[in-house]
Amino acid sequence: MYCMNPLERACSKMRKTRTVLAVMLLLIFIPGTVWAAGITDDIEAYTGTKNITVQHALGAKASALAMEKLHFNKGDENVLAMTNAGCAVIGGQTTEKCVDGLAAVSGCTIGNSNLLLVQRAKNMPLWFAFFNKATNEMLYLEANNTVLNKYPTDLETLASEKIFTVIAEENIELNGLLTNNEAWNAKISSKVFGGNEFSLIGIAQIWSNPNCTYDFLRAAQFHNHICPGVNSGYLIIKYLDKHLPLQAGQSYKIIACPSWCKDDAFQVILDATVGKKGMYVKALTGDQLAMLPGSAKNVAGLFIRWNEQTATGDGLVLGFDFDKANELAGTSNMTGPFVKIKTALSMMDYVDRPEIMVSTIKQFKISSASELEALQAAGVDPLVRLGVVENGE
Ligand SMILES: [Zn+2]
Repeated sequence: MYCMNPLERACSKMRKTRTVLAVMLLLIFIPGTVWAAGITDDIEAYTGTKNITVQHALGAKASALAMEKLHFNKGDENVLAMTNAGCAVIGGQTTEKCVDGLAAVSGCTIGNSNLLLVQRAKNMPLWFAFFNKATNEMLYLEANNTVLNKYPTDLETLASEKIFTVIAEENIELNGLLTNNEAWNAKISSKVFGGNEFSLIGIAQIWSNPNCTYDFLRAAQFHNHICPGVNSGYLIIKYLDKHLPLQAGQSYKIIACPSWCKDDAFQVILDATVGKKGMYVKALTGDQLAMLPGSAKNVAGLFIRWNEQTATGDGLVLGFDFDKANELAGTSNMTGPFVKIKTALSMMDYVDRPEIMVSTIKQFKISSASELEALQAAGVDPLVRLGVVENGE
């Protein structure tokens, strides 16, 4: 029988220790093994249930990978998470449980204003995005649909590359976005973030803006991107707060004429939805636009403070000056894929002074429900009916 001398025993022990250490290091650094102890506990605690599904595991895995790649800990206020989970329908299944898995692990929550559920059509791919404001790094993950047929525990050890078909990280620092036009045009063409580049980068930028409040973020989630158009809607709402404020029993009736991105902000923030007849949408043809007098060339629509009880209302025809918005932002002569985001960010500086860009073109009164209906009716140009455009119909 062979006996090791004390030196051999010591060497053998060191070899074993080295092997164990090497295996531990390998486990830590092998991509796709991100599943820290406690993740399951976190999901159980957050959801209040022991019934963890593969959707929970998928959202959790996205967060765990983001924490590793973007270097943050649970609950970091510098981090924004976004997803279309809940909108995407995969194999006939809705995907909302991913949201809780994501929140349980990252600590990004709706109440902390750093979990945004971004509207998308149900047939679009399921994705998760994370942005670390401290480093300007953004991570985009697109789910591999096949993992939703697995058991939740399968995801604990499955390689990240098998769980996500796209894993992309980019620095989205604003100056870089505005100066590296060629590089960013190429990244947008190659759909580095699955075609969601403008959407996710813009929302992350406005989320980082100190003037941005959650009511605007609700509009951004619904509109699914930010742009000068949706910001113009937000500034019009701020203008209405001052110049046509609601009292008890009143609501806004809006005739969007012409329609643009602003109208999504009204539906979300004022609950002036199309389905509930809070908003009617009318296009203006090129000919109709050409007939607008100079005073109405920036026309945005009709805004009526309506009292349902008395069937009366006070109305304003409002205009919005995009030339002014571009001038204030210093973007009038700029080109590039993210110039609109710079303009939109600048517009947030004026939420207390909306009159710089919003103006009243005409005031009017409505004295009956049928008078209101006459403006909303199909085939009627409300600007002609109100005399904003003189020769018409
Ligand atoms: Zn828009």
